[in-house]
Amino acid sequence: MINGELRTAAPIRWAMVGGGRGSQIGYIHRSAALRDRAFALVAGAFDLDPERGRAFGVDLGLDPARCYPDYAALFAGEAARPDGIQAVSIATPNNTHFAIAKAALEHGIHVVCEKPLCFTVAEAEELVALSAARHKIVGVTYGYAGHQLIEQARAMVEAGELGAIRIVNLQFAHGFHSDAVEETNPATRWRVTPAFAGPSYVLGDVGTHPLYMSEVILPHMRIKRLLCARQSFVKSRAPLEDNAVTLMEYDNGAFGTVWSSAVNAGSMHGQKVRIVGSRASLEWWDERPNQLSFEVQGEPARIIERGMPYLHPAAQADDRIGAGHPEGLFEAWANLYARFAIAMEATNTGDAERLSSIRYPDVHAGVEGVRWVEACVRSADAGGVWIDYTCG
Ligand code: NAD
Repeated sequence: MINGELRTAAPIRWAMVGGGRGSQIGYIHRSAALRDRAFALVAGAFDLDPERGRAFGVDLGLDPARCYPDYAALFAGEAARPDGIQAVSIATPNNTHFAIAKAALEHGIHVVCEKPLCFTVAEAEELVALSAARHKIVGVTYGYAGHQLIEQARAMVEAGELGAIRIVNLQFAHGFHSDAVEETNPATRWRVTPAFAGPSYVLGDVGTHPLYMSEVILPHMRIKRLLCARQSFVKSRAPLEDNAVTLMEYDNGAFGTVWSSAVNAGSMHGQKVRIVGSRASLEWWDERPNQLSFEVQGEPARIIERGMPYLHPAAQADDRIGAGHPEGLFEAWANLYARFAIAMEATNTGDAERLSSIRYPDVHAGVEGVRWVEACVRSADAGGVWIDYTCG
């Protein structure tokens, strides 16, 4: 049970790059990092526009001297202070992630990075090597993966309650970009522009979220090969896709699909994970995150509720408010941020045992997302062919 007590010796001195006024994801990072005082926000380069970023930092209550015009000034300025930052979160458009993460690691700063970590597997592996060489962690914000019922699903699969896993049915398919909203919305415009978004739109923007959740729930399974088809229903988005379907064969004979979409008209979020075994299935949906459906063949479906004493201990550990009250995105993200903080502290103190007891979306999870997108794009652009796939 989480009561707001510190889980590290002190809050980690933390900055943000991006996530400025009006950004989509900035507040969620701050809310998650600050919720249980795992982090203390002390500096930032919040905006592409230096003046707007400085004003925003001041409005957040920061020392104006620690509101920097850009990330290079942030890392240099903080390195010169005895109380400089220990960690940074990167919440900027995709094209900047690699350069900012690399610079942070080179300055000896722990990183929390938005997905996708970068554009290519080669870049991702450079970050893996750099984080190892500098003894710094890289966390990736696959936010809902911090939800307690994902832990419950993992425990139930591990206990064999589903039988042998046969089908992995994943989707993140919302409808918000069914029209060319990018004509008036800058946050959508960069998402459909290859120079800013990278080689894909929805595969990287939404598909990697349920993919990572499936990696948490099914740690014993590896994708063997995949086939992807992608479409641009709003034609001006080509070559980037606003809809994609990926088929995946696993090394244990299971079969998976991922539907990634921004044109699922009428759908709010549509992030669902359904795991089908030989005996039973589990289904979780981020719009009703407090309920996990457990469906045994031949029996009435059971609804497993968050916060109940019958849950696996790993699914109770991060509970804050007990059952019945809804928890969701903010708490799931805060659980991830708490794990990032513990991993950072354990790395700083060389506590290998504590570090290995914490599971979080780490740099390797970031690499897998990039690898999966790269393979999907390769398959789709070759006309939808099977691609051999090697997980890291
Ligand atoms: P956005 O366009 O709404 O906001 C981007 C912010 O970054 C703005 O404040 C902008 O001024 C600032 N910025 C841009 N370039 C900068 C730079 N070089 N230095 C400093 N600040 C800079 O974008 P968004 O929707 O908030 O997305 C940001 C990132 O978060 C993207 O990588 C996106 O994929 C990711 N994202 C993740 C989730 C999730 O669930 N994990 C959800 C939404 C967005």
